Amino acid sequence: MYLSYEQFSANTRAVLGRIAEACARAGRNPAEVKLLPVTKTHPAEAATYVLRYGGLSSVGENRVQEAAEKRGAVDAALQWELIGHLQSNKARLAVEVFDRIQSVDSEKLVGVLARASVARGRPLRVLLQINAGNDPAKFGAEPDEAPHLLEQALGSPGLQVEGLMTIAPLSDDPDVARRTFANLRMIRDALALRFGVPLHELSMGMSGDLAEAIAEGSTQVRVGTALFGHRPPPAT
Ligand SMILES: *Cc1c(COP(=O)(O)O)cnc(C)c1O
Repeated sequence: MYLSYEQFSANTRAVLGRIAEACARAGRNPAEVKLLPVTKTHPAEAATYVLRYGGLSSVGENRVQEAAEKRGAVDAALQWELIGHLQSNKARLAVEVFDRIQSVDSEKLVGVLARASVARGRPLRVLLQINAGNDPAKFGAEPDEAPHLLEQALGSPGLQVEGLMTIAPLSDDPDVARRTFANLRMIRDALALRFGVPLHELSMGMSGDLAEAIAEGSTQVRVGTALFGHRPPPAT
């Protein structure tokens, strides 16, 4: 049987407690840090739990098709955010399915998404994904490509750039994550100054490193495992 709502709700209280504690240590107001439950690989029920809990406005998914199916099965009150790598050939569908796309990491993708959102007649909210930990295993634009990517995105009708997103490299050393998050914040500050835009959202931190992310200025932590348990291994 799938995770019960009671278990999910206990997990959520615990995660919100960790967020509050990290905010207290960093001298930040917990209202500045949103929780994005990551429902990828979990059944549509996971998204209905999020709605039922209340106070959580969106869920994160990493595949376009999977999100399209779940979205059709769940109440429309929830917002859906794409946090996984997006191939340009899925961009049109992604613009239909998602309220915000966090994984914009190339000029090609900026171009395709801008055209698709103009055609759809509704601006698309995006974050630029930056490989702030210089991780060879991760997607995301390299930090030195970020100014050019931002310039292009800001000049694209149809796109509304709200901030940056990163994923820290896998490591047992919490300092690796912390340095990655500090780097994303510095990249944001430099870009905001240079281009005169707020880039308010810093989407960083997951189940294992949310405290480090909050200490470095995260405004949104993306949490899967700590809320829904371990994901089933991918089907073979
Ligand atoms: C899966 C995923 C998460 C959630 O990771 P957990 O460790 O399960 O909390 C966060 N961000 C991205 C981009 C992901 O793909």
